[in-house]
Amino acid sequence: MTTESTLRADIVEVGRRMYARGYTASNDGNISVRLGPDRLLMTPKSVCKGFMTPDMMCITDLEGRKLQGDRDPSSEMLMHLEVYRQRPDVQAVVHAHPPTATGFAVAGIPLDRAVLAEVLTTLGSIPIAEYATPSTKELPEAVRKYIKAHDGMLLANHGALTVGGDLYSAYYKMETIEHFAKISLVARLLGRENLLSREEVTRLQDLRGAYGIKAPAPICAEPGTDPDLGSVPEESCQVVQAPHGEGSRLVPDTVRSMAKADGDEEIRLTYRELSALIEDAIRSLR
Ligand SMILES: [Zn+2]
Repeated sequence: MTTESTLRADIVEVGRRMYARGYTASNDGNISVRLGPDRLLMTPKSVCKGFMTPDMMCITDLEGRKLQGDRDPSSEMLMHLEVYRQRPDVQAVVHAHPPTATGFAVAGIPLDRAVLAEVLTTLGSIPIAEYATPSTKELPEAVRKYIKAHDGMLLANHGALTVGGDLYSAYYKMETIEHFAKISLVARLLGRENLLSREEVTRLQDLRGAYGIKAPAPICAEPGTDPDLGSVPEESCQVVQAPHGEGSRLVPDTVRSMAKADGDEEIRLTYRELSALIEDAIRSLR
């Protein structure tokens, strides 16, 4: 059993790491852990997560009533309470605004493509919870849709949320999301993103069991239509985009291939090549 003083020190350390890595700016972000069946230890409102001390934390019950602490609990307390209510297995909740992942959340692009084995075995898919005004009760409502089946999600035009069986596990999931977002961004800038095949995703899903990874829900192709799982509602599965490989483990990006077929793909020419093409075209008009 981890003692309260250790948990206070762990929250300080995780806050420092998040701030140092640029996952939060100013007073952004919040962290909480379960202290007991009906008690939470939580970061306070309006402090920079990079400069906290163990005595700053608040203790609340699961209804959000403050039991101890000089400061008021985090302005996003309602979102934390909702997670603990929906997920009895969760021991810690981390919320931050890591810039690349938040960029995807602003662009409305979920991190749900089968690209990295490590991400699939741990988080599965990373959906986007609908936009909600921060600190209002809209945010827990938006999070509720995905929290039963996901340990990490983006929050539209806001940031990211991760949960875990202990504080470091929740924090590492935040690192994984930001790392995955950076890799996805680079691949997309390079103009190509090969996907893992559905068959490979099934193999990775089986590895979860072999490695004892506790995922809150299975991975499925589409809600309600997964051939292996039958009817699966969106709330209880991790929807991952993975095409059938027909023998190959890696499949070229189908969206881009379709764009190519439509003649929509971007091409790049040097100034000299472009001039030559234009001169050719003008010559043929004469
Ligand atoms: Zn926030």
